[in-house]
Amino acid sequence: MNIPSLIEQQRAYFNTKETRPISFRIAQLKKLKEKIEKHEDEILTALQSDLHKSEFESYTTEIAFLYAEISMMVKELEGWMKPEKVKTPVSHIGSKSYIYKEPYGVSLVIAPWNYPFQLALAPVLGAIAAGNTVILKPSELTPHVSSLLREIINETFEQSYFTVVEGAVEVSQELLEQKFDIIFFTGSVPVGKIVMEKAAKQLTPVVLELGGKSPVIVDETAKLDLAAKRIAWGKFINAGQTCIAPDYLYVHRDVKPELLSKLKDAIQELYGSKALDNEEYTHIVNQKHFDRLFPYLENGELLYGGSTNRDQLVMEPTILDHITWDDPVMQEEIFGPILPVLTFDSLDEVVEKVRSKEKPLALYYFTEDEQRENTILEQIPFGGGCVNDTILHVANPHLPFGGVGPSGTGSYHGKASFDAFSHRKSIVHQTTKFDFSFRYPGSKFGLSII
Ligand code: NAD
Repeated sequence: MNIPSLIEQQRAYFNTKETRPISFRIAQLKKLKEKIEKHEDEILTALQSDLHKSEFESYTTEIAFLYAEISMMVKELEGWMKPEKVKTPVSHIGSKSYIYKEPYGVSLVIAPWNYPFQLALAPVLGAIAAGNTVILKPSELTPHVSSLLREIINETFEQSYFTVVEGAVEVSQELLEQKFDIIFFTGSVPVGKIVMEKAAKQLTPVVLELGGKSPVIVDETAKLDLAAKRIAWGKFINAGQTCIAPDYLYVHRDVKPELLSKLKDAIQELYGSKALDNEEYTHIVNQKHFDRLFPYLENGELLYGGSTNRDQLVMEPTILDHITWDDPVMQEEIFGPILPVLTFDSLDEVVEKVRSKEKPLALYYFTEDEQRENTILEQIPFGGGCVNDTILHVANPHLPFGGVGPSGTGSYHGKASFDAFSHRKSIVHQTTKFDFSFRYPGSKFGLSII
């Protein structure tokens, strides 16, 4: 496919203004939902082939999520699109002020492999709702999902409106050489930097949904049974290949032995004693990632798990104790089923340590103490998170989802997706019935009725 001419086609189509009316946008969202419904079985099969994801996990995290977003958008879009009337200062007497929501134009969405269906289409919903055209580049590391996306989308939509361009890094690089009106990227921090640099050359607005090391902190007041279950679930779902998975556990010394014992029980309950053979347990995406994770198993002291099967690309849910901040496992986002454990003695220590690292995408804090909760929420910057749970904030469409600084720029989900793909155009609508002369240099103060 000739990429520059594809972009030209999309720009020409955008300029026809056909994507503007609400009726068009809603029709496209509904059409997409129907197609996903029609292809549900193939989507589940592709996810099984690429990541060994169970039907339950695939349906809830990749498909149902999109249905919920589409339903909300169809219901709320009219309200979101309306020009917003805002206050006008007395100095502007006679005028009214509005914010209009304008689609950017031709959008590029680049997606990662870990939730390869959902993370490709969730941003696209925002692009469609806001009236843009879309070129979607799925991840090459999940080829079954990528080619299914191409089939579904390219049989459903005109390529001048919404199309999938498959390919690896070179294709992504070629796309990034072009001029888009907005780029929405989900992926790693290093590639996020490349995307931002390329966008800067054209001054293209970007949304970057990146990663990082998201802590889960458990203090001595926390309800440990619940903490253990919720941490195990959030960490090992999708075999830890979740951008907002708790990356490491930071626990108060007094409750550490009890929490770790409960955590082991919780893992057993979720995946049984033979997780490697459990059909419900997701595998590692490829050998490169398996080999990246494997050496971490040597860090600290193995407390739970540690078994692997390289041929099957599967790694047991694993807990590593006696980890130090200098261990290799603490230098990069883990993005796999390995949970290192660090210990603290005071909340000040937690604040100081976490603040000294890059601002994380997510943070989870288990506590029963409101004052401590406020301290953590006020003193540590991070993208978003939960108190007394993990991951759930991502599934509330009323909460904008995104990182901050190194973990991302901008946010999406629900209305935030519409906003991410809309320019907010500010307009003062001035009266022509009268005019104040005081703003003009040299003129006397006064009012002239026109
Ligand atoms: P990645 O950055 O390697 O790849 C993402 C996309 O960028 C792919 O489509 C890939 O083809 C493309 N790409 C790769 N290298 C490129 C280059 N040099 N130039 C241009 N394009 C390039 O990320 P990944 O491994 O697919 O995903 C894992 C990362 O994504 C993790 O860091 C994770 O935290 C992050 N992530 C973030 C979110 C979020 O919502 N914030 C969600 C999922 C994953």
